[in-house]
Amino acid sequence: MDAISQIDDAGATAAVRPLRAAVIGAGMAGVLAAIKLRERGIDCVVFEKGDRVGGTWRENDYPGLTCDVAAHWYTYSFARNPEWDRLMARGPEIRAYFERAARDHGVLPLIRFGEEVVRLAYDGERWQLDTAAGHRDSFDVVIAATGVLHHPNIPHFAGIESFAGASFHSTRWDHAVALDGRRIGVIGVGSTAAQLATALVPRAERFQLFQRTAQWVIPRPNTPYSEAERERFRADPAALEALVQELRAKTLEGYAAAVIDVDSPELAEIDRMCREHLATVRDPDLRRRLTPDYRPACKRLVISDDFYAAIQQPNAELVTAPIERIEPQGVRTADGALHELDVLVLATGFQVDRFIRPAKVLGRGGVDLDDVWDDGPKAYLSVTVPDFPNFFLLNGPNSPVGNFSLVEVAERQTNYLMQLIDGLRRGDYREVSASREALQRFEAERREAAKKTVWVTGCASWYLDKNGVPASWTFSFERFAQEMAAPKLADFETR
Ligand code: NAP
Repeated sequence: MDAISQIDDAGATAAVRPLRAAVIGAGMAGVLAAIKLRERGIDCVVFEKGDRVGGTWRENDYPGLTCDVAAHWYTYSFARNPEWDRLMARGPEIRAYFERAARDHGVLPLIRFGEEVVRLAYDGERWQLDTAAGHRDSFDVVIAATGVLHHPNIPHFAGIESFAGASFHSTRWDHAVALDGRRIGVIGVGSTAAQLATALVPRAERFQLFQRTAQWVIPRPNTPYSEAERERFRADPAALEALVQELRAKTLEGYAAAVIDVDSPELAEIDRMCREHLATVRDPDLRRRLTPDYRPACKRLVISDDFYAAIQQPNAELVTAPIERIEPQGVRTADGALHELDVLVLATGFQVDRFIRPAKVLGRGGVDLDDVWDDGPKAYLSVTVPDFPNFFLLNGPNSPVGNFSLVEVAERQTNYLMQLIDGLRRGDYREVSASREALQRFEAERREAAKKTVWVTGCASWYLDKNGVPASWTFSFERFAQEMAAPKLADFETR
């Protein structure tokens, strides 16, 4: 993480051009961008459609919500947190951390809550921005920090409108609905559903999990930190940082190396751990139905050491017959069975190709981002799009995703962007965006690297775009860190 702080210092260059920046989204990445812009004295407004900070940690508040990335690594490098309760923190604790960071770094007064950006248009000089509430403003720089797992995927199940009980997507949790002693059904078996199962099986009269495709589950104990450990982290920031780096190295050397190389020993180890874990399921028929027909890590791994225990409880049932329709009393499956329910949760994931959209984004000469991304979203090194000058994305298309710390990803991207923005301030150029050639070259290389990844070994997942090509970062994390260390200006079109 040293490279990140060095670059920060470099930002203190004398500015000749005063800039105004708009940041879209007040989640983890938007708050970060605002902190870094503010450090440079850049006038900045954050537009947030919700009513509080937190992004994914505001939108998701389902029972059992936990981040399966180690909490100590899931923090800003400049605001480590000695207080984490356990290895993988629960949602409310993480939301509170980002709220605190926004408050402590003076970001809250910069945020316009309840303001959804609906249109951005480049007029040759500045970005004209419109919000749904009718606010209009103009900016030199726009940073879209709108998240990836944001727009819910809500499949249409025939008859869903007729359901007499309560039904909602996992990101739209209705806390007015009682859960204790009820008959609860969850559709989907991703990370969200696995956490819901663990949290709700003990509370439900009956819990049914509707599985279309089995998932590999890798165990990881969620060890609590003792008060003595927290005291040591408070007293000794170097010990805390050493822990962060240890947790980070473990993931990068294991999982990150595994997913980009199907022949790696790291993937073989993940394979072994998943199969060994599955073998702990006692009933052979249940075990068979929980066994995926593709390689571990092809879909994002579910990280849980209590999901299998939950689904084996007497009041829990794994339903693998396909869903035929929803009826007023519950879910009718293709084998003719009616599964009667009081509550039906869709843990059916997200539309991951939206990014800043549905906002209309019009770049140089009126070019429409929807047209440019017609065949799937693309951005040079995930952060900049040709013909969209001074418009940048955080956790944008082709970013590293999976079990990384997206906080570190956003932090490295932010520091890269700040260097481009420093060029604008110094007057090196008035406009900067990736050249088309650079994006083409990057994309060709990215697709070539994709052929060796585990994501193309025969499963459907949200990692793949509509053409079946992985939409994520297909190189090593080290390469990501190197690329983000400093922009290569030859790859940019500047004016
Ligand atoms: P997901 O991984 O995309 O899983 C969606 C589930 O819904 C899949 O089992 C999918 O089945 C099923 N599904 C979708 N449409 C369906 C349909 N029409 N009929 C039947 N089943 C359907 O979504 P998620 O669990 O919300 O997780 C999304 C991502 O969020 C994760 O991969 C992770 O990156 C992040 N996340 C992380 C955590 C964590 O840190 N622990 C927790 C939650 C989420 P198929 O496989 O057959 O498509």
